Amino acid sequence: MEYRISGTTRLGGLLGSPVSHSLSPAMHNLSFQMLGIDSVYLAFDVTNDRLADSVRVLKEFNTYGFNLTMPCKKAVMESLDEISKEARLIGAVNTVVNRDGKLTGYNTDGIGYVESVRERGVVIEGSEITLLGAGGAACAAAVQMALCGAKKIHIANRRTPTFRAAQSLVDRINQETGCEADLTDLEDTNTLRAHIASSSLLTNATSVGMAPDVEKTPIPDASMLHEGLFVSDIIYNPKTTRLMRDAQERGLDCCSGMYMLLYQGAAAFRLWTGQEMPVESVREKYFG
Ligand code: NAP
Repeated sequence: MEYRISGTTRLGGLLGSPVSHSLSPAMHNLSFQMLGIDSVYLAFDVTNDRLADSVRVLKEFNTYGFNLTMPCKKAVMESLDEISKEARLIGAVNTVVNRDGKLTGYNTDGIGYVESVRERGVVIEGSEITLLGAGGAACAAAVQMALCGAKKIHIANRRTPTFRAAQSLVDRINQETGCEADLTDLEDTNTLRAHIASSSLLTNATSVGMAPDVEKTPIPDASMLHEGLFVSDIIYNPKTTRLMRDAQERGLDCCSGMYMLLYQGAAAFRLWTGQEMPVESVREKYFG
C-alpha cells in the first residue's frame, strides 16, 4: 500500500537516548501503513535535561502519544497529567497517550513480557515464579505478573543499591496486588535453589549472559533447573543465551526476550489506536 503523509497525518514517536538503533519506528510505521492509519512514528534523541520541553512540544503539536526509553522513563512522570496503576507500581512510564491534551502514562514493558511467555503456553495466574534481577525490566515484569494473578514471586538480586531499592517494589506488590512477593540475595544459592524448586517459571531479568558475555549465566548450577520448569530470559542478544542452552540440554522449554519487545509495542499501539498491531507481519519482517 502506498504511504502518504498529508495535512492530517498525526505524529508520535520515541524519546530517549540513544534511539537510532530502535526497532520501534519500523514496527509502528509498518502497522500504520498496513491498517491505513494516518499517523507516523519517529525517533527523537532526547535526554532528561530537555525532556519536559520536548513533552510540552509533543502535547502542543497534538501528537497521538509517544514512547519513552532510557534515560527518560522515570523523569517523564513529572510532566504527565495521569499515571496508570501499573506504571505507578513499576515507577516508570514507557508509553504516553495524548487524549485531547491530557497526557496519561502507562508501562507496557511488563505486558510485553507476560504476552511473550503466555504465547508459549506459560500460565501466570496462580503460579509461583522466581525472578532474577530487580532493575527496570525486572520491575516491569514483576508488577505485571502480580497484576495478572501470580500467586508468589521470589525476586533475587545481589546485595547492591538495586537490592535496597527493590524492597520498596516488593512492599508495593504486597500492599497493592493479591500477589505475595519476597526479596532474597541472588548469591544465597540454597534459598535460590529452594525458590526455583517450588516455581513453575524462572525469569532472568539480569543482564548476565547478554552479548558480549555470552558464556555467563545467572544460575551457578544447572541442576537447579528442574523438570517442568519454564525458563525465560529477558535478554534478546544473543537470541539463545547460555541459561537457555542449559535449560534446553535438560529438556526444558524456554524463550528469549525477543518477543517482549514486539508485544510491548503491540500494547502501546493498542492504547494509541484502539486497534491490534498486525503482529505476525511485524514479527516476520523485523523479528525473523
Ligand atoms: P538494569 O535496570 O540495569 O538492571 C540490570 C539488572 O541486572 C539488575 O538487577 C542488576 O543488578 C543485574 N545485574 C547486572 N550485572 C549483574 C551481575 N554481574 N550479577 C548479577 N546481577 C547483575 O537493566 P534492565 O533495563 O532491567 O535490563 C536488564 C536486561 O534485560 C538487559 O539484558 C536488557 O537488554 C534486557 N531487556 C530486554 C527487554 C526486552 O524487550 N526483551 C527490555 C528491557 C531490557 P545490580 O543492579 O545489583 O547490578
